[in-house]
Amino acid sequence: MKSFRRLLPAACLLFITVTVFAETVSVNNLRVWRAPDHTRVVFDVSGPLEHRLFTLENPHRIVVDMLDARLQGSLPEVETGGPLITSVRSGMPEEGPLRIVLDLKAEARARSFMLKPAGPYGHRLVIDLHDIKANQDDSTSSRDIAISPPPARPVPRERIVAIDAGHGGEDPGAVGRRYRTREKDVTLAIARDLAKLVAKTPGMRAVLIRNGDYYVSLRQRYEKARRMRADVFISIHADAVPSRRAYGSSVYALSEKGASNAMARQLADKENASDLIGGVSLNDKDDMLAQVLLDLSHNRTIQDSLSLGEDILTELQRVGPVHLRNVAQAGFAVLKSPDIPSVLVETAFISNPSEEKKLRSSAYQEKLAASMFRGIQRFLKRAPQTSPVPVQAAISSSELPREHVVRKGDTLVSIARKYDIHIDALRFINNLWDADLPVGLRLRIPANQGDG
Ligand SMILES: [Zn+2]
Repeated sequence: MKSFRRLLPAACLLFITVTVFAETVSVNNLRVWRAPDHTRVVFDVSGPLEHRLFTLENPHRIVVDMLDARLQGSLPEVETGGPLITSVRSGMPEEGPLRIVLDLKAEARARSFMLKPAGPYGHRLVIDLHDIKANQDDSTSSRDIAISPPPARPVPRERIVAIDAGHGGEDPGAVGRRYRTREKDVTLAIARDLAKLVAKTPGMRAVLIRNGDYYVSLRQRYEKARRMRADVFISIHADAVPSRRAYGSSVYALSEKGASNAMARQLADKENASDLIGGVSLNDKDDMLAQVLLDLSHNRTIQDSLSLGEDILTELQRVGPVHLRNVAQAGFAVLKSPDIPSVLVETAFISNPSEEKKLRSSAYQEKLAASMFRGIQRFLKRAPQTSPVPVQAAISSSELPREHVVRKGDTLVSIARKYDIHIDALRFINNLWDADLPVGLRLRIPANQGDG
């Protein structure tokens, strides 16, 4: 009897322990990436995790409470030479959540979100710490941009080349078989070589979309190019396929109607997955405006992208083999700028051991950069010098005197056809979301971007 009594509580305890264990999420690893305006902290966790985040002052700290979580081993050493993080500590109270404290050198605006498994990673908790000072700098630069291009263009404007090194930070891109070369490192090296060539050419200016080992979302990449009023956008990559033998460079442009071949479609799917691997929050959805912008001027931009791509492909053929003789097309998210000719260059196959070796050499990186540069120059010499006005500004500005007064029998379709504009653009600038079109209503007519 006595022994039974002793057994009973032990059994209950065991049951509880097992239940708790089944729900506990383990925190396995931690990485820190530094971007120019923010620091990203990524925790690898074993499953979906509930967490709370709050900010403390004097000194500045970010506290993350992870519910039903435990630390697997100890936190890895974190690079504290950066501008923000002093140290990362953890505390595991007897009861309650696992607490992680990030000690900061300065105030930061924190944002956190969970990511589902993608690429080489399982579940992740991402904490973005935005510098407060850097954000002020950013607003200054956008004000500069707003006032610098004059409405009339009496003097030739600098031609701006936006150079996008593919992948970065959380997203390594493809990895070579022989030397484990990471695509993100090769693309950054080539991008910097290209930027140097552009920068030393009179009348040209380079903008590096990323200039370090951090991730930039595909949408932010082309939005930065638009903000900087780039004349061309070039995204640099290195391809990988299961076969070790595939070789050569290829150049791609956007297609909205579908891919030009199966390989292009597969490649676009792979490159578009970057956002999942690189850690883009699912809250960052495309909005309505973005869709209208795409419809407005894309046809012409895609034609220009194809001819930019041909110029680059012609030059690439002079330094090495090409994989495809023509510019291929597919739905690459990074090329969706509505008004900047944009191409994606797969410089070589990192999955081919001999091309991987070449991609690692700075001499070959420079050669690739030089040929892309000559291609861009050829294109710009031919292309009329335009100062792209952001479509968003055009829609709201007073440069649109055209007006239509609704008459009996008018429909949105007939009005759109009359002025040769897109029906979505008409809806958008007039805030018309239902079919009701009262006689006498004054409609603003957007500038026609679709032809020419
Ligand atoms: Zn890539």
